[in-house]
Amino acid sequence: MTTKSAAAAARTTVYGYPRQGPNRELKKAIEGYWKGRVTADGLRSTAADLRRANWRQLAEAGIDEVPTGDFSYYDHVLDTTVMVGAVPDRHRDAVAADPIDGYFAMARGTRDVAPLEMTKWFDTNYHYLVPELGPETVFAADSAQQVAEFEEAVGLGLTARPVLVGPLTYLLLAKPAPGVPADFEPLTLLDRLLPVYAEVLADLRAAGAEWVQLDEPALVQDRTPAELNAAARAYRELGALTDRPKLLVASYFDRLGEALPVLAKAPVDGLALDFTGSAAANLEALAAVGGLPGKRLVAGVVSGRNIWVNDLSKSLATLGTLLGLADRVDVSASCSLLHVPLDASAERDIEPQILRWLAFARQKTREVVTLAKGLAQGTDTIAAELAANRADLASRAGSPVTRNPDVRARAAAVTGADARRSRPYAERAAAQRAHLGLPLLPTTTIGSFPQTGELRTARADLRAGRIDTAGYEERIKAEIREVIAFQEKAGLDVLVHGEAERNDMVQYFAEQLTGYLATQHGWVQSYGTRYVRPPILAGDISRPAPMTVRWTSYAQSLTSRPVKGMLTGPVTMLAWSFVRDDQPLADTARQVALALRDEVNDLEAAGTSVIQVDEPALRETLPLRAADRPGYLSWATEAFRLTTGGVRPDTQVHTHMCYAEFGDIVQAIADLDADVISLEAARSHMQVARELAAHGYPREAGPGVYDIHSPRVPGGEEVAELLRTGLKAIPAERLWVNPDCGLKTRGWPETRASLENLVAAARKVRGEL
Ligand code: GLN
Ligand code: ZN
Repeated sequence: MTTKSAAAAARTTVYGYPRQGPNRELKKAIEGYWKGRVTADGLRSTAADLRRANWRQLAEAGIDEVPTGDFSYYDHVLDTTVMVGAVPDRHRDAVAADPIDGYFAMARGTRDVAPLEMTKWFDTNYHYLVPELGPETVFAADSAQQVAEFEEAVGLGLTARPVLVGPLTYLLLAKPAPGVPADFEPLTLLDRLLPVYAEVLADLRAAGAEWVQLDEPALVQDRTPAELNAAARAYRELGALTDRPKLLVASYFDRLGEALPVLAKAPVDGLALDFTGSAAANLEALAAVGGLPGKRLVAGVVSGRNIWVNDLSKSLATLGTLLGLADRVDVSASCSLLHVPLDASAERDIEPQILRWLAFARQKTREVVTLAKGLAQGTDTIAAELAANRADLASRAGSPVTRNPDVRARAAAVTGADARRSRPYAERAAAQRAHLGLPLLPTTTIGSFPQTGELRTARADLRAGRIDTAGYEERIKAEIREVIAFQEKAGLDVLVHGEAERNDMVQYFAEQLTGYLATQHGWVQSYGTRYVRPPILAGDISRPAPMTVRWTSYAQSLTSRPVKGMLTGPVTMLAWSFVRDDQPLADTARQVALALRDEVNDLEAAGTSVIQVDEPALRETLPLRAADRPGYLSWATEAFRLTTGGVRPDTQVHTHMCYAEFGDIVQAIADLDADVISLEAARSHMQVARELAAHGYPREAGPGVYDIHSPRVPGGEEVAELLRTGLKAIPAERLWVNPDCGLKTRGWPETRASLENLVAAARKVRGEL
């Protein structure tokens, strides 16, 4: 192994590319198919065109080996379920009758059959469909799609490498099928699954694939010795196959840790490793195991998660070090480019200077190619690119957008006292009781009321110039009047203004904070045909003017009952944005917290006695490795306390989170020091209430009693039963009555009926106390 030959061989690749097309053609075709406006053939041909366009784009940019199998009509984990024949029993007939319709039935359900559950793909904002497995599961290989897509790419004259979800990750992401005991471990099916992978690999080999990539991101999470043994066994067996392509095992999103020696020793032909962010630890770990002699290393040095230009010199230094550690070093992005938007050059509203700091999928591809050229042919062959990159990095580092001295001075001056309420909870609770005068079991909602067609039309009219700002605001005010009048009539105790003015709970604030950028075309797949445009947290954050005060004040002017102010918390602002990579997340969170603190204080000054700061993302942002969690929770909870720490003792701070499982962060929830928390609980029959009680949670809590995920109206007696169950865990003085989450996706008829039942149930149970 010589450094020189490894360098001369440096090739370029990526593991996946955005699927949607430049104008979200895929979304339009799929939704058109669902509505019967696009035929199955039409859908297939749009999809094939998009795949071809992506491969051509990659090849023209200089990518030597294009990925196949990264495309999906909905989700690549669902595609893997099809590939291994693990279609749930309840969907078998539909899939047999019509593969495409059956596929979409698994993804979305039908009137009669429930879909697969959806959950987040590691710590990204992409959601996959969870495989359902059990002791009876029989796998069967179906490589047709993989083979067909590989052949399509080869047909264009390209070198292609199929990319599959690896067997370990597939099983580790699965859950017990309905009816299977909850303690069933899908990993026990490994011996049954491996022959299926062997068959798919043989089929791809027969089709001409030299390399196949098996993605094992589950190995960057903490794994038990048994799981690591399973990984070793899986790759020993797959490696020992005679009729197989070369195997490239890929991991990303974090460091491999104890799984690195396992994979390094495995009889596979190459590893693809992430060297960005906290995964940079892979470098030392790789050196510690003696590198990958005789193997191919694909080095993910360009982040596939963020949208910032790469520091090319730094990446070249990493690549240079890696040259001594493997037979062949290839260059790639750290993970599939699915997680970033397609093309920064499509943005028209971002200042040209700032646009140069950004790299979306297309730009990242170019960075990969430039780095490989520098590695193979010497840095002087990319001198112009390096100079331009240095200039862009310098412009970003020196810009008043990224460095606002006032924001920095303020953040630096924060003291422990700023992140603490002035009085302990017990005193605050008494002051709030006196100030608010609420009944026992007070009723409230989580914030949003139905986002009606009229509201969306009003926003579209404003954008199109059909109405002016004043006209738009009149429509919002009319909606607020309606929402307040309904809540008064229904008899709710703590009202909300309904969030009619918000398109999205992060974007709405991002648009009003200095330091955030918005994109016009920066779509990223969230799940299926749902795409989001996360705002870009680009610079130092400040709040030039109040963001919500006028709406809350207007609502408060209409009623004598307390109206709850409604804000999105700092962690959620970060989690659902592209965040800057040039300072620790903790510093960014602190800046956002200070901006939100101004809003909280202004709401209080305007007469708001109850203020809710939503943190639905607190749990989903937990680092993948347990060792990194205490550090995260420390800055995350501090940011919340900094947001809310400046208010009077008699101002009541609420928070809200959207999930029912949080035993692992109950201490962090207590550390928020909020006076009241609302959580999802209706579907789990108040499990949350029991968990809070078991952990001695010392605050008021509103476990949801109305499942807002469907239009179903809960009956009054059903809600009353949930409240009685809640009361067994949480005393009446500390129990709130509210839905699971906001009502923005609901219609008015079911919202009205459900909230009336909720109030009636609260009154009834109060009478029983
Ligand atoms: N206040 C927000 C709403 O009601 C909370 C949404 C959320 O937690 N995701 O819509
Ligand atoms: Zn929620």
